[in-house]
Amino acid sequence: MDISNPCFRCGKQRIVVSTKKERLAGSWVTTTVTSCPDPECQKILNKQMEKERVARETLVGLNKLPVNSFGRKRKDIILKKRVSVL
Ligand SMILES: [Zn+2]
Repeated sequence: MDISNPCFRCGKQRIVVSTKKERLAGSWVTTTVTSCPDPECQKILNKQMEKERVARETLVGLNKLPVNSFGRKRKDIILKKRVSVL
């Protein structure tokens, strides 16, 4: 298996936790939830992402942009969206 989705912190191949297929705007979107195989690394990533999320939401509030243009369901793990045309 090639490293198609390396962890941007340690460079290890991220492991797929779960995949979900849903229909969005007329096409099937596969959402792949991945996590770093190193729990310590993932913990640090979670903290970074939480910081970024808060910063982004603060920015959205300041600019008075519609909040729903950003994904609000972002969990502790990175959600990777792939649009597959079927
Ligand atoms: Zn990592």
